[in-house]
Amino acid sequence: MRLVMLGPPGVGKGTQATLIAHEFDIQHYSTGDIFREILKGSSNLSRELAKYLDAGNLVPDDIVFETIRKTLSEDGAGVNGWVLDGFPRNRKQAEMLDGLLLNENCKLDSAIYLAATRDVLVDRLSSRKVCSNCGAVYNLQMNRPKNNDICDKCGGKLIQRKDDEKETILKRIFIFESEFASLRQYYKDRGILLEVNGNGDTNDVFKQIREGLKSGQERGN
Ligand SMILES: [Zn+2]
Repeated sequence: MRLVMLGPPGVGKGTQATLIAHEFDIQHYSTGDIFREILKGSSNLSRELAKYLDAGNLVPDDIVFETIRKTLSEDGAGVNGWVLDGFPRNRKQAEMLDGLLLNENCKLDSAIYLAATRDVLVDRLSSRKVCSNCGAVYNLQMNRPKNNDICDKCGGKLIQRKDDEKETILKRIFIFESEFASLRQYYKDRGILLEVNGNGDTNDVFKQIREGLKSGQERGN
């Protein structure tokens, strides 16, 4: 099974992708994680990425695609299938992904679109903090650390990611919206768009996704 998760920043793509990967025994690839891994290094690619991400701007299509192509072509990558989270962000990236899959004689099974209102998104993202030492993620509303600003797991200092600051969040949402209509239409035309209401809690949202994917599988068989 090969899936992509679509939706605005803060809608819970990462959380849902993790649940899906576990349920269907497939690999979860997040562009956020892939980028953060690259940013730890000091390559040209790392400097290029930092330039875009720090400003809350989109990374150019060819750079994003290159990181995805490399990840998917690693030995043993997603033999059972995968779910991509954070890619594609626009129609051009979707076409690049289809081209890559066509070369390998396979195709995408479903594009899952998590939709949520802007208020919900800003609320969720601006209350997120991460450990500067181990990377654990906390949410000041739903998953509070025992001591403010200290990681429960390792005692590291909790920080707000640059891309979770309110100004940057709004900018990311606007950028997302400006490109999304055409991407949504692309998958709708292909008949593989699964649209899910992402305003609810994690379990409700996952239930919708699981049912949508299972009925899609039955239709396909
Ligand atoms: Zn920690």
